[in-house]
Amino acid sequence: MLSFELSPDQKALVETARRFVKERVIPVAAHADQTCEFPKDVFKEAWELGLVAPNLPEEVGGLGLHEVEHVLITEELAYGCTGIQTSMTANALAATPIIVAGNAEQKKKYLGMLANEPVFAAYAITEPAAGSDAAGIQCRARKVGDEWVLDGQKCYITNGSWASWYVVFATVDPTQRHKGIMAFIVDRDSEGVSVGKKEDKLGQRASDTSTIHFDGVRVPAANVLAEAGHGFKLAMQTFDRTRPDIGAGACGLMRRALDESVAYALERKTFGVPISEHQMVQAMIAEMAIKYEATRLLVLKSAWMIDQGDRNSLVASFSKAFGADSAMEVATDAVQVFGGAGYMKDYPVEKLMRDAKILQIYEGTSQIQRMVIARNVFAGVRG
Ligand SMILES: Cc1cc2nc3c(=O)[nH]c(=O)nc-3n(C[C@H](O)[C@H](O)[C@H](O)COP(=O)(O)OP(=O)(O)OC[C@H]3O[C@@H](n4cnc5c(N)ncnc54)[C@H](O)[C@@H]3O)c2cc1C
Repeated sequence: MLSFELSPDQKALVETARRFVKERVIPVAAHADQTCEFPKDVFKEAWELGLVAPNLPEEVGGLGLHEVEHVLITEELAYGCTGIQTSMTANALAATPIIVAGNAEQKKKYLGMLANEPVFAAYAITEPAAGSDAAGIQCRARKVGDEWVLDGQKCYITNGSWASWYVVFATVDPTQRHKGIMAFIVDRDSEGVSVGKKEDKLGQRASDTSTIHFDGVRVPAANVLAEAGHGFKLAMQTFDRTRPDIGAGACGLMRRALDESVAYALERKTFGVPISEHQMVQAMIAEMAIKYEATRLLVLKSAWMIDQGDRNSLVASFSKAFGADSAMEVATDAVQVFGGAGYMKDYPVEKLMRDAKILQIYEGTSQIQRMVIARNVFAGVRG
């Protein structure tokens, strides 16, 4: 049987997250956007409610929720503010390679830290000369005695300034490209780790995005997460599991844009009638509703596939690409529905438009998603 109905527990979870977002996230979102100040008290409360990295396994003290529940929570958080949501869900991004490839000690120590304290973690693969071309990273890993030594830098890292630990991808030999890449867990307080430039961004301004420098950082062998030849695969396996969550963020942003647009369209009058009575405005609203619903179905399907143990690159990329592109279109149309008012900071839709853009860029651009999709389709995979 195929069911589109949420279970009573899932409905209760959505209700909890929705109430929290209404009472605690929406009231602070505009200020956090203007000042780039992340509301850490709100993060702590979300963590106490189990809304941060809800997929952490029960054996380390986490809730062990499935990916379907995870994306439902992300959609609610994103309805309030995708900047605040991105910093919350970045913990799940950092945790995922450890969930996938970590040994029992690594899981207990690092996932346990996230489960037991409201701290941050970060996932660090991007470098100034290697974003889409992740196999081109230059950050070097050298074996010295029993330890590994890291030298290089990572840029645009979400939660980079605040993280207690990082998952860092580095190479034993850049000429080997993906075959040379390893993955490490690096403690923030290791000697040689320093935070560089904090980015001043177009959107999602509540979220911290920073450069991290690694200068002769000694990493114990116990913190190797993936050996050479396995690190690149781990990075991609991680994205297969986390890209649906970007689609879920897109859902939250689109639902907010739709709600704001409907309310405004019913209120605002031109030519003697509410603008909701003009067919061209109705068409924009209808397109928004279609894109939200279609993305939600893709996100839930891709999350469900993860919960079934399916590798899921194709559908994960469907939900990420379609969701991100749709969110950009929907947010742009929301500004259009508001007319001149939509361009002003007095209304929430200009923030939605600025926030939406990054969805098409991080965790693989919309172009890279299409490369993944085309590769799968030519290989005979159809979803
Ligand atoms: C706010 C923010 C948060 C981020 N958070 C993180 C994080 O937490 N951790 C992390 O590791 N990284 C993070 N990133 C980095 C992000 O994942 C990269 O910016 C992204 O993957 C794109 O890489 P790039 O910026 O180097 O762009 P480039 O790779 O230089 O791409 C430039 C353009 O060329 C296109 N392009 C590139 N190659 C191809 C191709 N083969 N075919 C067609 N088009 C192509 C791209 O789609 C894009 O349009 C973040 C970035 C931002 C802005």
